[in-house]
Amino acid sequence: MGIRKKILITIATVLGAVMSLIYLATAYFLLQNLDQAEARSMKGDAERTVDLFLNEAKNLSTKLSDWSQWDDTYRYVDDRNPEYVESNLGRESLAALGINFIVIIDASGTIVVESGIDVTDGTERPVPDDLRAQFGPGRYLIDHPDLAVSKEGVISLAGGPALVAARPILTSKGEGPSRGTIAFVRLIDSGLMEKLSGLTHSDIRTQWYGSGTVDESFRVATEYFQGGQSGSFVMPESASVIAGYGLLSDIFGEKIMILRIENPRLVHGEGIRSVTLFGIALILFWALAFLLIFFLTEKLVLSKITYLEEAVSRIRIEGRASTNIYLPGTDEFAELAKKINEMVSAIILFREKEETAEQRFEIIAREAPVMIWMADPDKSVNYFNKGWLDFTGRELSREIGRGWMELVHPDDLERTVATFFSSFDERKTFSVECRIRGHDGAYAWILTTGVPYYSEAKVFLGYIGVSIDITDRKEAEEEEIGKLEETERLNAIITSEKGKGDAILRFLRSIGDGVIATDMDGKIIFSNEAAAKLLSFGGSLDGQWHKDVFRVVSEQAVEKEECFIKEVLRKKEKIEGREHRLLVKNDGTKIPISYTAAPILDADGGMLGCIAVIKDTTEEREAERMKDRFLSVSAHQLRTPLSGMRWSMEMLLGGDLGKLPREAKDMIDRIHANTVRMIVLVGDLLDVSRINEGNYMEKAVPMDIAPLVKEVVEGIRSEADDHRVMMTFEQESGMLPLIVAAPKRLYEVIENLLSNAIKYTDADGTVTATLRKSERGVTLSVTDTGIGIPEREQEKIFSKFFRASNAMRKNTEGSGLGLSVARSFVEEIGGRVWFESEEGKGTTFFVEIPSVESVRNK
Ligand code: ADP
Repeated sequence: MGIRKKILITIATVLGAVMSLIYLATAYFLLQNLDQAEARSMKGDAERTVDLFLNEAKNLSTKLSDWSQWDDTYRYVDDRNPEYVESNLGRESLAALGINFIVIIDASGTIVVESGIDVTDGTERPVPDDLRAQFGPGRYLIDHPDLAVSKEGVISLAGGPALVAARPILTSKGEGPSRGTIAFVRLIDSGLMEKLSGLTHSDIRTQWYGSGTVDESFRVATEYFQGGQSGSFVMPESASVIAGYGLLSDIFGEKIMILRIENPRLVHGEGIRSVTLFGIALILFWALAFLLIFFLTEKLVLSKITYLEEAVSRIRIEGRASTNIYLPGTDEFAELAKKINEMVSAIILFREKEETAEQRFEIIAREAPVMIWMADPDKSVNYFNKGWLDFTGRELSREIGRGWMELVHPDDLERTVATFFSSFDERKTFSVECRIRGHDGAYAWILTTGVPYYSEAKVFLGYIGVSIDITDRKEAEEEEIGKLEETERLNAIITSEKGKGDAILRFLRSIGDGVIATDMDGKIIFSNEAAAKLLSFGGSLDGQWHKDVFRVVSEQAVEKEECFIKEVLRKKEKIEGREHRLLVKNDGTKIPISYTAAPILDADGGMLGCIAVIKDTTEEREAERMKDRFLSVSAHQLRTPLSGMRWSMEMLLGGDLGKLPREAKDMIDRIHANTVRMIVLVGDLLDVSRINEGNYMEKAVPMDIAPLVKEVVEGIRSEADDHRVMMTFEQESGMLPLIVAAPKRLYEVIENLLSNAIKYTDADGTVTATLRKSERGVTLSVTDTGIGIPEREQEKIFSKFFRASNAMRKNTEGSGLGLSVARSFVEEIGGRVWFESEEGKGTTFFVEIPSVESVRNK
């Protein structure tokens, strides 16, 4: 499930659950409170209804008081005057009083007179017997211990309940003795009920208490009161009606009737409506909150995650073309985007570095004039370069694995394979010489060196090795051995047949190469003319100490070398030297030589001295130099047309001359790649030839730097024009001190700085070279307005092969060697190189070179 779906579901559920809880709790408490209030009010209403009946009885008693304290009534009980009855107890009087019966009882408990009507139609009505029985002698209603107290209430008659009021008959002044009792009775009939209902604004219904048949609407209330409860009882009938019940007791305290009234449930209804509205409001709120939270999450989080996700997949699909993820703002996502960008650039940088390293190896390995091979850890060879394949004339597929063994000379095979395998097992560097069959079928002597190589994590990855053709050396060695054998033979003659060897000595003297023999102390006991000539020594060398006349130095090292004669005397073994040895002549000039020196032994192998054969190799060296010169000139000559070809092809590929057909473009792409490779090769050739020419051995001399800088600036101006970069040269006024440097190499250093400045500056930028005097000598600064060097890569800028990421993007060409060479040169002559740079703004490189004076003072 996607994160978006998860968030939606979670927000919806959590919000929904919280809102439901709030709703349920609120609805429950609100409705409960309202219902309780409603019940309380209903209870009050029911109790008031019961009171209504009792009040009615009290009203009756009030009306009765006029009759009971009246002299007419008082007298009537005594005289029974029929006039009283006629004028006061007629039907009209009863109707006006609103009562059903009047009964007058004398003090002995005998009914004196009675009168009754039907209140509804005014017709006469006899007093029921059970009512009469209530007024019999000794009954409660006619017993008046306190004359001020009336008796009123409800009584139960066979025809139904009735309200009754009874008072003692007194004089109009309220004085006794009482002549008896007068009572008003009002039947609780439908008329009364209607009246009372009108007062309560609600329909009052009744049910006899204790009657056999109970109306359904009274059942629960009846059970309630029968359970011993009194007062009132409330019960909701339905959602819209609530009923209240009251218990009516008669004047004797007996329960006689249950009253019932109904009210509409307005409060409850209101509660339900409020709860419903509240529910709707909550749902709206839920929806709103949901939308809001979703919108915010979408805008602040999800959209950014989606964007990052898309950007990252785009990078994955398109590679370096789309490396920049742009996310504005300062939140965590913007930070994450930045981190991703940094990571991607780091990966790209790393990959490019790896690629260039691999390409470089590929080119070197393929084109190198030596044979290169690589083997797996399981000893099977998996790679041979072009040099090898050219030499053997076979396909790669035949050589890999163990195919190469087919070409090893049968006499050398066992030894070679044993060395190869055992070295592998011990992970040792090995060298082995063996004969290998070349493409022409002839065997050549090959010296093979193998070195184990490891990953960065120190895992053994196999062997990498170089094989070189040493046939010439072998032959030369054999030749030398031949010579040596001859010398040794002579030795024998010299030692065994001293005195008799004139003929032999003459023979030695006539040899073209210099021959010198010394005793164990180093004193020359024999020399030929050629030797004296080599040293430009007038006369014979015989009798001289070799160390006085012989000086040999190395071409590279300036220190004097140990003389080979002394070395033989010390080591007591044969030595030979072919390269880089110079013999210092008597007049101080030097000549290149090769030599072989060996001990002179007697018949028992005891050492007598040393014999040396020395050969002047000036001519050979000259031939070699010419070869290098040729190499350098051809490389120089090749470079310009190759660069021209490359630019033309880049124009073609760039579409400057219109869109190319696909196949043509592919082909030109390939030619372009090969041309670039050739340019690199030619560059390497130039470097090599320069070393050979001795430019790198060039001496530092005192010089004026200003003309040199001008020369470089002028020499490179066309390059600047090509890049549409404006280049200027400024020199601080006043004399600059002389400096000490090798001019050609300094030229190259300055050229590299200027060329970099031009190369890494966009069109319409500027490059300024400035020379000024500094504390220790002269400082040259080269300032450009170019791409600059990213801060985090600045510390590596002088490392060999390092190229900054932005430089690689701008200019795919470049070896990353120039600055490292420049620094080592400048430091060699006691100067220093540094730079200041800001990415996107520009760079200034500084070179400080010490003055003659400061060098001298050091
Ligand atoms: P390259 O042939 O690659 O230019 P250098 O050794 O001359 O080799 O320079 C090394 C790296 O230093 C360059 O690849 C480039 O990243 C950086 N660099 C040198 N000069 C400048 C410059 N003027 N402006 C920006 N970057 C430079």
